Amino acid sequence: MNPLRIAIVGFGKIARDQHAPAIAATEGAVLAAVADPNASLAGVPHVATLDELLRDGPPIDAVALCTPPQVRSSLAAMALAAGKHVLLEKPPGATIAELSPLLTAAHAAQRTLFAAWHSRFAGAVEPVRQLLAGRRITAVRISWKEDVRVWHPGQTWIWQPGGLGVFDPGINALSILTRILPQPLFVTSADLAFPANRDAPIAATLSLNDAEGLPIEAEFDFRQTGPQSWDIHVDTDSGPVTLSSGGARLIAGDQQLVDAADAEYAGLYRRFVELAATGETDVDLAPFQLVADAFMLGRRRTVGPFDDEI
Ligand code: NAP
Repeated sequence: MNPLRIAIVGFGKIARDQHAPAIAATEGAVLAAVADPNASLAGVPHVATLDELLRDGPPIDAVALCTPPQVRSSLAAMALAAGKHVLLEKPPGATIAELSPLLTAAHAAQRTLFAAWHSRFAGAVEPVRQLLAGRRITAVRISWKEDVRVWHPGQTWIWQPGGLGVFDPGINALSILTRILPQPLFVTSADLAFPANRDAPIAATLSLNDAEGLPIEAEFDFRQTGPQSWDIHVDTDSGPVTLSSGGARLIAGDQQLVDAADAEYAGLYRRFVELAATGETDVDLAPFQLVADAFMLGRRRTVGPFDDEI
């Protein structure tokens, strides 16, 4: 079978660090072009915009939309209208409702629309889902704290409306949580800390439940210096379970069951190639819905201004 010819649209940090190497390493996929106003990759055809790519670029079958989320849905609509399969980096857009016409368009065109929750492909996520399926869960605590200056240096979009602020990483925790717990979840309260000079939160605490009242507490913070934490602690009837390192390590009781290498994007592109072979769509909006509900229900506090330079 011919390889899936993929163009990356938006060639910033994640495209450089993960998408380009993952496509190169994926059987059945090839990086055919890059569309970005400024950035390019040596040896790969480059254009400035998706419009130009579709008009004058090399032939492609699919696009991976790695731009900031605020422009994602209009790019996806354009690509689907041109008959291309579409991978949406997380979050899948800037609002939930904008996904609806995209789903309709993908279905009508029989093209894949893939909301790519990369953290779900971390090595310990499926093992912990299976482990928890056989246990009674009594409480969950999430600690997702990182230094925004290290992981998002100079990114202005993350602080603008639709950029999600601390929910940009926090949604990764929620994407794992909604995958590994057996029941649907909902937000019961939220506290959002907005820097005085920004339009997105720098920290958030969330309480969530499932239908049986399972208590879930989540702390997201962009102001973490020193050790970073991407951990989910689960209390169960057979002892504590911890998923750490963003989903790569699994510890149950005092036993480490998984310590996986980083292979999230390899798994994600294997899945995209598999979906595109039949034009199947995979869009789970549960993590995005929880973030939207946190914004809807959250008490907003103003904290000190944030500047990229200390
Ligand atoms: P980034 O470094 O700011 O890169 C975004 C790139 O998209 C920039 O090169 C930007 O160009 C370009 N761009 C903006 N509008 C465009 C358009 N209309 N057409 C083509 N290119 C356009 O951001 P990032 O960190 O890579 O994040 C991008 C997405 O990936 C976000 O949704 C983020 O949540 C997700 N993600 C990021 C990470 C991470 O660790 N950084 C991890 C996983 C997922 P200009 O800068 O010239 O505007």
